[in-house]
Amino acid sequence: MLSSIAGRSVVVTGGSKGIGKGIGRVFARNGAKVLVVSRTLSEAEAAAAELVADGGIASAFAADVTQPAEMQAMADAAKLRHGGVDVLCANAGAFPQGRIEDLSAQDWDQVLGVNLKGTFLALKACLPYLTQSDQGRVVITSSITGPVTGFPGWTHYGASKAGQLGFMRTACLELAKYKITVNAVLPGNILTEGLVAMGDDYLQSMAASIPLKALGTVEDIGYAALFLASKEAAYITGQTIIVDGGQTLPESLDALN
Ligand code: NAP
Repeated sequence: MLSSIAGRSVVVTGGSKGIGKGIGRVFARNGAKVLVVSRTLSEAEAAAAELVADGGIASAFAADVTQPAEMQAMADAAKLRHGGVDVLCANAGAFPQGRIEDLSAQDWDQVLGVNLKGTFLALKACLPYLTQSDQGRVVITSSITGPVTGFPGWTHYGASKAGQLGFMRTACLELAKYKITVNAVLPGNILTEGLVAMGDDYLQSMAASIPLKALGTVEDIGYAALFLASKEAAYITGQTIIVDGGQTLPESLDALN
């Protein structure tokens, strides 16, 4: 068990549900102080209350990652309530589907705004506090979609997720002088509340395309983030960890048998 995260202040954008909620749960169970951030305060509060009921330290904050002033207020809240920012999990994301013929310029800007610009704005706002930490860490939730694979209907999403890695590879160089590391987790298909709502047939067909024959859990992503945030990962920066049950590996359907 990694022991170096206890007492650390962790900000999780998009922490009210799905993968972000799982990240928050893993960090809280390992003794971190978690700021759960989403636009919907009631949902962030409910997620934070779950972490507290589980024995953790957590509080909620409502902020939109596309708004610089709200990101600033988020970082300041982490300082005020939890003593600073040691770890930023830039996880908030949007993934509406739309093929190129149907996508508008506004659709494109919305997805790039949340996923890519939001990553930049969250990091920029937290940076003054991350530099004060002796173990500053940024963990970006990217995706296999874009950096590794493609999926019709998600050109804008894939571009934003690949863009996060381009951002990461220069951000890690700029922040190296502060000993801040910047890394990314690339989830495959993860079982979130949204996917559960798609029904059993859909979930089974997705699982069939994965060598480990199951969708990932939100905690699977949380544990990868926890490792990258740990003291033990201090020498890893600008790197990616794919957490996908082997989904990106088969060359053909035969390779799944
Ligand atoms: P989700 O269940 O839909 O949760 C999204 C979270 O982000 C919510 O807390 C949502 O709360 C918040 N959010 C959305 N827009 C926001 C904004 N503008 N500002 C602040 N918070 C915002 O999503 P998920 O499936 O867990 O995905 C989380 C991340 O993992 C995303 O970056 C996604 O691209 C990535 N990912 C997911 C999968 C998967 O299989 N689920 C696979 C690969 C990558 P509010 O709506 O209240 O703001």
